[in-house]
Amino acid sequence: MAADIIKEDINNYTFDFAEEVQRLINEMGPKAANILFANMSVRHDGTRLGAVFHQLMGGKNVTEEYAREAGQYAANRICEDPTRSSFAVQSDSETDFSAIIFNQGTFTKNFFGPEYADLSSLFTLYHEAGHILLPEGDEPDELHPYKECAADAYLALRFLQRFGSDAIPFLSMKSWMRSFAAFSGDTKHLSTAVLDKIIADSTTHDFTTYSHEKIVECAREYADQWTPTPEALSAARPFFLRKVKKIRSLLAGTCLSSSSHDLAFLVGAKVAQPFLQTGIIYQGKRKYFTKKKRAEYESSIAARLDSMNIDELFNNSAVRPALKPKHIARALQVILPSNRKWLVFNPR
Ligand SMILES: [Zn+2]
Repeated sequence: MAADIIKEDINNYTFDFAEEVQRLINEMGPKAANILFANMSVRHDGTRLGAVFHQLMGGKNVTEEYAREAGQYAANRICEDPTRSSFAVQSDSETDFSAIIFNQGTFTKNFFGPEYADLSSLFTLYHEAGHILLPEGDEPDELHPYKECAADAYLALRFLQRFGSDAIPFLSMKSWMRSFAAFSGDTKHLSTAVLDKIIADSTTHDFTTYSHEKIVECAREYADQWTPTPEALSAARPFFLRKVKKIRSLLAGTCLSSSSHDLAFLVGAKVAQPFLQTGIIYQGKRKYFTKKKRAEYESSIAARLDSMNIDELFNNSAVRPALKPKHIARALQVILPSNRKWLVFNPR
């Protein structure tokens, strides 16, 4: 209910797994009864398996055998790759339970610096909850990012619901991160258009008044309309996978090349934004373009935006009128927190 909503202060946010899980359970209602939440970041009896087992049993009507199996499964997946982040196990015809296994890897936590660790943990928890709440769609892979886009849409709406417009810079940086990751081949999580559309709409829509159910429905709609199509992804991927070391050559092959595919152009233009704005701090070093280069690149991007029809790239052609290039240009920009002059990031 709108009257109960108090916008939380994003700058003083501290992540508490147990508290956030309880909150999610309250919001989800009866649906939550079949979801197991386990925090793999902590240990119990000295082991992660012990921790998962302990947590799965806590307060849930599951058999010991099930908890052991699920715990073993989660532990195996984490052991395969200890740096791997959290994941969701969706229920299928054989199991009644789904699970969110939370394992906040240092990579996600520190991507934008340690001051974003708590928000990044919430981002992860909501992303995984999004998977459970929005189970439709193809198994995600590099050409089918629908499920990942739906999970990101859910988390973005939740952030806006809780923190209002103060959530925008963090979401905007994460949207940039999804495009940045596409350059190393990860198009499975390419939710930039979904996130940017939600961010843009948040200036005219008030998501804080939405019920949890309405948020889920709304996330589905955004994913339906703004997930890149498999056709666009398979045409764009070759541009992302060129083996180049310098960011300049990456941009030259995508947003600054007239022969690049439209989606490759858009993703390149997104990645280029912080460089066209003030520059970035990458592993402690500042990288930026000269004023002259910036102006040159900006006008070439603007010219290309003018001539393209983005509807073909996404699943939205039947529903909405084409976006005006100046709106897309605005949506591409990375909005930084007011206390930051440059985009700071520390990839793996
Ligand atoms: Zn995911």
